[in-house]
Amino acid sequence: MQVTEDKNDPPIRTRFAPSPTGFLHIGGARTALFCWLAARASGGQFVLRIEDTDQVRSTGESVQAILDGLAWLELTPDEGPYFQSERMALYHAAVARLLDQGRAYRCYCSRERLESLREQAMASGQKPRYDGRCRSLSQPPADIEPVIRFRNPDSGTVAFHDRVRGPIEFDNRELDDLVIQRADGSPTYNLAVVVDDLDMRINLVVRGDDHINNTPRQINLYHALDATPPEFAHVPMILGEDGARLSKRHGAVSVMAWRELGYLPDALLNYLARLGWSSGDRELFSRDELVSLFQVEDVNRKASRFDMEKLNWLNQLYLRSESTQRTLPELDWHLRRIGLDPACGPALEDLLAVQSQRCETLVEMVEQSRAFYADFDDFDPVAAKKHLRPVAVEPLRALRTQLQDCDWTPEALGLAVNRTAEALEVGLGKIGQPLRVALVGHGSSPSIDQTLWLVGRARALERIDRALDFIDQRVRANG
Ligand code: GLU
Repeated sequence: MQVTEDKNDPPIRTRFAPSPTGFLHIGGARTALFCWLAARASGGQFVLRIEDTDQVRSTGESVQAILDGLAWLELTPDEGPYFQSERMALYHAAVARLLDQGRAYRCYCSRERLESLREQAMASGQKPRYDGRCRSLSQPPADIEPVIRFRNPDSGTVAFHDRVRGPIEFDNRELDDLVIQRADGSPTYNLAVVVDDLDMRINLVVRGDDHINNTPRQINLYHALDATPPEFAHVPMILGEDGARLSKRHGAVSVMAWRELGYLPDALLNYLARLGWSSGDRELFSRDELVSLFQVEDVNRKASRFDMEKLNWLNQLYLRSESTQRTLPELDWHLRRIGLDPACGPALEDLLAVQSQRCETLVEMVEQSRAFYADFDDFDPVAAKKHLRPVAVEPLRALRTQLQDCDWTPEALGLAVNRTAEALEVGLGKIGQPLRVALVGHGSSPSIDQTLWLVGRARALERIDRALDFIDQRVRANG
């Protein structure tokens, strides 16, 4: 069902709130994309908040990895990053207020007691929940630092309309008194998230549906703080090709690992958008088109499966059709990454024009372009044995003469090769393959005119000489 956004709806103010305990995962990136799109589509704002209250698991490196991942995808926040670790005073004030109003209480129960409650519940087939023993303690123990629990309503229901999943209702009897502040004074996720979403005036929370069970607890907290909850949109998870939840075992999961594998940010973004969102049966969307078409209601309810083939297909399409202005910096990055200097070979536009027809990823592209930017050590022995033979000497020499002063365009070079073949009355293969091995060291490269073009005149002449020497030495060695 398509729900059209009312033009009078207020602009969406949303946030992406990752915990910095690892890289920016592909699922997180998709959530960030949906948040960003929802905000952009409505003329609102996209806020970035780093949820780093877990001092042990949060690292500066992860924060950087998240920022790098978002920057690479150009999911630029309008505000932030805010850091929860810098906002402790706000959480403490909210907890104090809840304590004052009797909506929260100190709990002194030992780990052992909680564990035995849990075991009892499990043994009788019930959901483990805190029994509320400390709700009305008359004499709190003096030597224990308590945790603070929220006093969840005992009855009634919590209902909300999820903008992806539709109406959802929880019975309060299902929810126990959740811990909102640990014994060391640090706030828990559910408290901090509510305080921040309120303080940051978030009106739509878009997040993974693994948080759906937290939502009724958070809604109760909003009410206890006399506030109106935001709207929620819980997006389903991403599965691997085998149907299991996407994880490391499926290969690259961090966004930056996809960069390293040779994908373009716009292709990955287009892919992620379609992974769980659709607009008819269209597959290709520019950023602007996504912004103009995106509605959070159109996010699928069902989990989506990662489809490598489709990503490769999209990546190749983007390699061919994306404006070079966007692709060249990535190509440059990949060349340098494998130790090639982009200044020591053909213009990147030219390389891209040729190789994008043959390659699905930038990694493939740069791997197959080594000989255009650097000398190779040895000829591939199999290719050399087959093609660098005395019969190739005459064609290579004749061609060398032509190449000294012909125009250096693929057309002129193709013509030079053809003419040489005709003049010597040999088939094109007899000249093309030896030339290819001479130029790149092995038997696979773009068409011979394009290969020559990319290798460049000086290198081509030098390499033909090298191949002729090689043949000469071979003949001598064989007596
Ligand atoms: N820090 C939480 C996470 O990374 C955010 C959940 C939310 O968006 O409320 O899962």
